[in-house]
Amino acid sequence: MKQRIFQVLLPGLAWLVTTAAYAQAPADGSVQNKAIPISVTEVAPGLFFQYHHQESNNAWLVTDEGVLVIDTRQHPKRAEELLAAIRKTTDKPIRYVVNTHAHGDHYFGNTVFKREGATIIAHRDTVAMMKAHHGAEMKRRMGYFKQRQFDPGEVTLLLPDVTFESKMTITLGGRMIELLYLGPGQNPGDTLIHFPKERVMFSGGPFSKNSWPNPQFTPSMSNWIDLLRKIAAMDVDKYLGGHGDIGARQDVLNEAQMLSDFDAGMRDAVDKGMSREEIYQNVKFEKYKDIRNYYRMNLFINSYYHFLTTGKPQVALP
Ligand SMILES: [Zn+2]
Repeated sequence: MKQRIFQVLLPGLAWLVTTAAYAQAPADGSVQNKAIPISVTEVAPGLFFQYHHQESNNAWLVTDEGVLVIDTRQHPKRAEELLAAIRKTTDKPIRYVVNTHAHGDHYFGNTVFKREGATIIAHRDTVAMMKAHHGAEMKRRMGYFKQRQFDPGEVTLLLPDVTFESKMTITLGGRMIELLYLGPGQNPGDTLIHFPKERVMFSGGPFSKNSWPNPQFTPSMSNWIDLLRKIAAMDVDKYLGGHGDIGARQDVLNEAQMLSDFDAGMRDAVDKGMSREEIYQNVKFEKYKDIRNYYRMNLFINSYYHFLTTGKPQVALP
């Protein structure tokens, strides 16, 4: 069933940061680079998952009537690469794109799929976040564009055509796809794409296997943790995160535990009157140092400190 259909290795760039040096992670979206493996796995018949360790993941469902694609990557050039990967699996038209959340690494490639004729779908709050924060999303990814030598001028905001509020069911070529909204997790508008018959869920922002999520956007850590526990209790075998490799139920529960530990550790530090700088130096959450993105811990501490001391996320739904 699980079949790696191709695997490529792009040459790594020079920028290298060790986990011990996390306090220096830049806020401009530069990524920690070693090599950049990309793999495509057929997780169920016709349902493909593209895993890109250093950037963001995608999935697509191929049916007789066309293709549904989840997320569009961080630049139109990356979207063209995604389209080329899809074209290795099918020549059917691209019917739908779902944007799981309003982070640039999940929607900056929308224009490429619009050109292919896709109808783009997102949660109402995701669209509101895109409208309000597109400029900031661009800004925080300038380091990434520079590293990759991608022209930021090629990215244009292309908003979804269709929105939903709590649930939307799509039938395509006899296959069923459910878009679910269980309230905000990592983000307002976090969309979960459930393939009930295949027992697979694309969990976009809220879950990424063995990967520290950026807490800059969450309006409710407790809702986020509850959401993870809810999806872990569903009849699903494979959880496909917006980042990280294919996860199982236990990986979802592990993230819930990690977020719970992060929340408790941060609340304790703030209650003790520690400054951001003191938290960087003394509360390092080192139990989780081997988790992807740990080198950005300074940024995560900074943003969650903001939340705990102001009651609002750094980046909020307007
Ligand atoms: Zn992302």
